[in-house]
Amino acid sequence: AQAANVLRKHYQIHVKGSNVTPPLQGFEEVKKKRKFYEKLLANTKASGFTTPTPVQRQVLPLLLHHREVLAVAPTGSGKTLAYLLPIIIHAKVAALRSHQGIKALVMSPTRELAEQITRVLLRLVQGLHLSCCLINSAAVVAGTDFSKTDIAVATPLRLSKVAKQTDLSSVRYLILDEADKLFEEGLFKQTDRVIKACSHPRLVVALFSATLPESVEELARSILRDPVRVTVGQRNV
Ligand code: ADP
Ligand code: MG
Repeated sequence: AQAANVLRKHYQIHVKGSNVTPPLQGFEEVKKKRKFYEKLLANTKASGFTTPTPVQRQVLPLLLHHREVLAVAPTGSGKTLAYLLPIIIHAKVAALRSHQGIKALVMSPTRELAEQITRVLLRLVQGLHLSCCLINSAAVVAGTDFSKTDIAVATPLRLSKVAKQTDLSSVRYLILDEADKLFEEGLFKQTDRVIKACSHPRLVVALFSATLPESVEELARSILRDPVRVTVGQRNV
C-alpha cells in the first residue's frame, strides 16, 4: 500500500474509494500466463505505447479487477488506452471461454470520436481473433450481425436506434467516454436507454471525462456502485 501511494504521488494520481488496486509500474505487469497477452503487449508497443500514462497506470488494473471507475483526466492524458486494454483482455478471456454476444461496449458522444476509438482498437486487437465493430449507419445498412461482435463502439443516437435488435445483456464492460457530453441534454435519454439495456448482473460501468461538473458527478454516482474515483493532475473539481 505504501509503494502504491509513492507511485500515485509521483504521477499525481488521486484516488477515492475502497480497496483501490495499486497503479501499474509498466505495461509488462499486465502480462499473464495466457499467450494472447504477449501479442496484445506487442501490438500496444507497435502502436507507440511503451510506457503507461498516469491515468492508464491506475485505471487499467482497476478495470481488470472489475471495479467501477469514474476517471477524470485532462484531454490528451491517454484515457482511450486506459479502458481499451482491459476490455480487450476481458473480451478475449470471455471468448476463450466461449461466451457469446457483445462483451464490451464503448459509448462515445460523437461519430468522429467513435471512429477514432475504433481505429485504435483495431490496431490493438490485430491477430487476437476478436471481432470489433463500429456500430454506425453503414454497419446497420449492411445488416451486420452485432451478436457476433466481441467489442462494439457506438454513439448513443445510433445505438438507441438498433437497441431493440441488439442484445446488450451480455455486455460486461460499459465504457462511457466523454461522459460529461453523454449526459448532456441532447444525449441523456439515449445514453440512459443504452445503460438500462446493459442488464448483465455483474455489469462494470466506467466513466471517462476531462471535466466533471457536479451535476454529472451526481448522475454518475446514481449509476455506479461502489466506484473508485481517479483524478489525474491538479485537482480542479
Ligand atoms: P484522452 O482521451 O485522455 O484525451 P487519448 O486517449 O486520445 O487521450 O490520447 C492522447 C494521445 O496520447 C493520443 O495521440 C495517443 O496515441 C497518445 N497516447 C496515449 N497513451 C499513450 C502512451 N502510453 N504512450 C504514448 N502515447 C500515448
Ligand atoms: Mg478521449
